[in-house]
Amino acid sequence: MVIKKVEKILGRVYPTDVTEAGAERWMVHGLCRTMDPDIFFPSDGVGVDKARKICHNCPVRESCLEYALANHIDHGVWGGSSERERRRILRARRLAKIGAASN
Ligand code: SF4
Repeated sequence: MVIKKVEKILGRVYPTDVTEAGAERWMVHGLCRTMDPDIFFPSDGVGVDKARKICHNCPVRESCLEYALANHIDHGVWGGSSERERRRILRARRLAKIGAASN
């Protein structure tokens, strides 16, 4: 599913046999890999919670979150975080960086 989600976000279309080779290594271990991508693009808080519960047990949650942060993906649930939560994380990291630079 992560790969399908990446396709949905980036508009990429990979042939099936190229998908795994072309994907980030962690993606093939995502719990959502075989799930409907729409679960991870919820339209309300209930949907976000549902996606979050799946992510909670995912072995690649941290990699997924970092991928979404690094690529500034602002749609969907990644690494158990909503768009709003990722914005908060990025803001906190920016502020921490500024704080560290000014010390
Ligand atoms: S953390 Fe969630 S969105 Fe990311 S790979 Fe795992 S199940 Fe999928």
